Amino acid sequence: MSEYKQLIDKPIFHTIGRVADGMGREAYVVGGFVRDLLLGRPSKDIDFVTVGSGIDLARASARALGQHIKVTVFKSFGTARLAWHGTELEFVGARRESYDRNSRNPIVEDGTLDEDIARRDFTINAMALCINADRFGALVDNYNGLDDLKAGIIRTPLDPDITFSDDPLRILRAVRFATQLGFRIAPETLMAMARNAGRMTILAHERIKDELQKIMASPKPSIGFVLMMKTGVLPYVLPELEAMSGVETRHGRGHKDNFYHTLEVLDNVAARTSDIWTRWGALLHDIGKPVTKQWDAKNGWTFHNHNFVGSKMVPRIFRRLGLPLGEEMRKVQKLVELHMRPIALVEDEVTDSAVRRLANYAEEDLEDLMILARADITSKNLEKKQRFLENFDIVDEKIRAVRALDLDRAFRPALDGFDIMAMFGLPQGREVGTLMKELTRVSKDCEIEPTRQAAIDFLLDLGTRMGLHGDPSLLPDPATKPKKKTSN
Ligand code: ATP
Ligand code: MG
Repeated sequence: MSEYKQLIDKPIFHTIGRVADGMGREAYVVGGFVRDLLLGRPSKDIDFVTVGSGIDLARASARALGQHIKVTVFKSFGTARLAWHGTELEFVGARRESYDRNSRNPIVEDGTLDEDIARRDFTINAMALCINADRFGALVDNYNGLDDLKAGIIRTPLDPDITFSDDPLRILRAVRFATQLGFRIAPETLMAMARNAGRMTILAHERIKDELQKIMASPKPSIGFVLMMKTGVLPYVLPELEAMSGVETRHGRGHKDNFYHTLEVLDNVAARTSDIWTRWGALLHDIGKPVTKQWDAKNGWTFHNHNFVGSKMVPRIFRRLGLPLGEEMRKVQKLVELHMRPIALVEDEVTDSAVRRLANYAEEDLEDLMILARADITSKNLEKKQRFLENFDIVDEKIRAVRALDLDRAFRPALDGFDIMAMFGLPQGREVGTLMKELTRVSKDCEIEPTRQAAIDFLLDLGTRMGLHGDPSLLPDPATKPKKKTSN
C-alpha cells in the first residue's frame, strides 16, 4: 500500500469514495486537511472536493454514514457540511475563481480539479488525495507542495502579486502559517506581500481577528509580528503596536525599543502558558508607552502611568478587532494595569499584607500576572536578571504561604474548645480534646457544612456515642463572644 493510501486508509474515506463512485464522480480530500495529514498534525475538519455538486455528494454521503446525520447546506456558496463523530466534513464542488479589480468577491464558476487546486493560496495547501476506489490514495500535487512542505517553505502556486491582490487575507495567512508551522516564506512571495500590504484595507476585521488569534496561539508568536512589521502589514492590524517601534535618543540617552521588548516578553509568556488572554496581556502590556513618553533633563525618558493608560486602550483595540469584551478583556486590562506591581513588590520588603493586597486585586489572575511579571524581565544584564527572578521566587513562596494560611482559616471549624466545654459542661481535658480534634478533621475534609448548626449537630451526635450529653442552649452567644485575634 502506498504511503498516502495508508494515511487515509479509514472507513470514512472508503465510504465516501464509494458513494462518489456510485454517482460516477471524482472525489478528493484536499487543502489544509492534506497538509496537516502529511505533517502529522491533528485536524478538526476534513475538506472534500468533487467534480460536480458538493451538496449532492454531501447528501448521499450522509445517507451512507447513518440515519441521523444532518446536512447543513450553504446554497449560495455551493457547499455543504455535516458533523461526523466530532469532525466537520465539508463538501465543495471543484470551481474556478476569477477576480474583478473593483469587487471584493470573486466570480465563481464550476471548474475542474486542476482549476480548483490553482485557486488555493499556497503550494502546501494545494494538494489533494483521491478517494475513488480505483485511484485511492493518489496524490495530486501540481505545484510541488510536497517539496515545499518538506523544506518548510510558504509559496504561492501562481503569481504572488495577483494572489495577494485578489484576496489580501492571504498575506495574513502566509504570516500565520510561517508562525504556526515555523516555516520560511519564499523571497518572491514575501516581497509580493510587502508590495500588496495596502490592499489590507478591504478586509473585514473579523477575518483579521481569526488569523491573529492563530498567530497568538502559536509556540513563538513573535515570528508573526516581526513578519507583519517587515512587510508593512502591522499598521493595518495593530497600529498601536507598530507605534512602539524605534528608539529615540536625546543627549546620548536612548530608551529601549519597546516593540522588540514586547515581542521578547510575549515569547517568554508563550513558553510558560497557552492561555491566549495572558498572551494578549503580554502583547499589550506596554501599549501605553508611546502616548505617555516624556523627556526631561533630570530623569531622561519616562513613561508615567503607561500601565493605566495602556489598560484604558485595551477596549478600543478589542472592539475594533471583534475580540470578546467580557471576562477575557477584563483579564487583559487587569494584566496590563498591574504588570509592574509584582516588581514594585520585590523592590520593597515583601510583607504578608502587601502580598495579600496584590492577591485580592489580581484575584484568580495572580499566577498569570506573576508569569507576565517574570517574562517582563528582559534585561541583558544577567546578574540583575538573576536577582530579580530570585526575588520573584520569594514572592511566589509568600503567596503560597499566605494562601495556605487563608485556606486554613477558611476551613476552621465553626465552634472552638470553649464552646465545647460550655455545651457539654466539661472541664478542659481529654474528652474536649477528642471532640475538638474530630470536629476539626471533618471541617477540614468538608465532611460537614461549614455552618454553626452543622458543627452543633455533629458534636451532639459524636457526644452521644461517647456517652456525653450536650445542650446547645448553653453555648455562649456568638455575637457577644470576644473574637479571637488572628495575626497578619
Ligand atoms: P486552518 O484550518 O488551520 O485554519 P486551512 O489552510 O485548513 O488552515 P481553511 O480555512 O480550513 O484553512 O481552508 C481550507 C483550504 O482552503 C486551505 O488549505 C486552502 O487550500 C483553501 N483556502 C482557504 N482560505 C483561502 C484563501 N483565502 N485563498 C485561497 N485559498 C484558501
Ligand atoms: Mg482547515
